[in-house]
Amino acid sequence: MINSTIYDRLGVPVIVNAAGPSTRLSGNPMRPEVAAAMAEASSACVQILDLQGRASEAIARATGAEAGLATAGAAAALMLAAAACLARLDLSRMNRLPDTDGMPNEIVMARSQRNFYDRSLRQAGAKLVEVGIPDRFSGAGVRDAEPWEYEAAITPSTVALFWLAQRNSEPPLSEIVAVARRHKLPVIVDAAGQMPPAANLRRFIDEGADLVCFSGGKAIGGPQASGMLAGRRDLVQSAALQQLDQDEFFALWTPPPALFDKDRLPGLPHHGIGRVAKIGKEEIVGLITAVDIYVSEGDERRGAIWRATCTRLAAAIGTLPGVEVRISDDPRRPGLSTVDLILGAGARCDAAAALSGLQRGTPPIFAVAGAVRAGMVQFNPMCLRPGDVEAIARRVRDMLA
Ligand SMILES: *Cc1c(COP(=O)(O)O)cnc(C)c1O
Repeated sequence: MINSTIYDRLGVPVIVNAAGPSTRLSGNPMRPEVAAAMAEASSACVQILDLQGRASEAIARATGAEAGLATAGAAAALMLAAAACLARLDLSRMNRLPDTDGMPNEIVMARSQRNFYDRSLRQAGAKLVEVGIPDRFSGAGVRDAEPWEYEAAITPSTVALFWLAQRNSEPPLSEIVAVARRHKLPVIVDAAGQMPPAANLRRFIDEGADLVCFSGGKAIGGPQASGMLAGRRDLVQSAALQQLDQDEFFALWTPPPALFDKDRLPGLPHHGIGRVAKIGKEEIVGLITAVDIYVSEGDERRGAIWRATCTRLAAAIGTLPGVEVRISDDPRRPGLSTVDLILGAGARCDAAAALSGLQRGTPPIFAVAGAVRAGMVQFNPMCLRPGDVEAIARRVRDMLA
């Protein structure tokens, strides 16, 4: 196992993360180049807005958007996206959030796309208006929300439409964008976990989204507590104004002109709703570094490494009674392979018991929790480190051979 000295000193067990980069399991092991850039950034002070100006350029390069903002995660980006759509460049509205009584405050979304992260939109003061019935999921029917239902739900109180980027999201983004354009409303997209493929960095902006939220700590390999908001410059400017603290005389404020139109602002708002989700210079620098590496490295190289890791893991596990061991392609994330153990009636235990046994051992091993529903123990290679393949195979054989 790699040196885990800081965790040894703190008495915190290092885990084998075969579940992929999730917040609960502390994201990714960060690339050494990103860690080095963060350490370098930590040794001096800068004006945080000058750094956000550079982050905006890096995010714009990677996504094709007009502008971008480094945030403290995709959830923070969602909250700031909602805040931007609620307040635009109205400083007194910024100061009121999350109180939105008596001002337009509705975000329309498909009922089938409700998820635990949409709380971030509500945190800014938005009210969610659900449309459609996800009949296709019940097995009773085939339909889901449809564009006319969004259209019918739009009122003078609507500030944005929301779309969750998922392979099976309906209706498709292009149809939501068409409705939004007719009503001059922005579309917010949650694309937090949509990589791979790296092409998804550009796809939703290309398809007409006005604001797209990404996680920096998932596949991109940035700091765990980083994310990004990419989109229209006026909306990103509003988000940026609401993220900062504003202990500053307006006359002395020198924001980067690429992101801010100082002449068009009457002054500065108070500390914004996003101040609770501040991002430091180390994370901003780490995010910029990680995004540049992620884009230049390319999917093929990463896919080949994951596939090779899966091949080694499947070979090391070998054959087990009542268990089919196979390497699959993740249908949601092209280029990502996983190792799946399908536990049949002849296996020594079921998938839930195997998962729990793996978690309780030393070192604790975490597999993909959601696969248990399908009777599978699934291993995701994205966060595995040297030595992990052997540790997993040993424990799997102890339990199931
Ligand atoms: C992970 C995730 C988020 C939150 O991302 P963070 O960067 O951890 O804040 C939001 N939405 C979806 C769909 C996610 O998968």
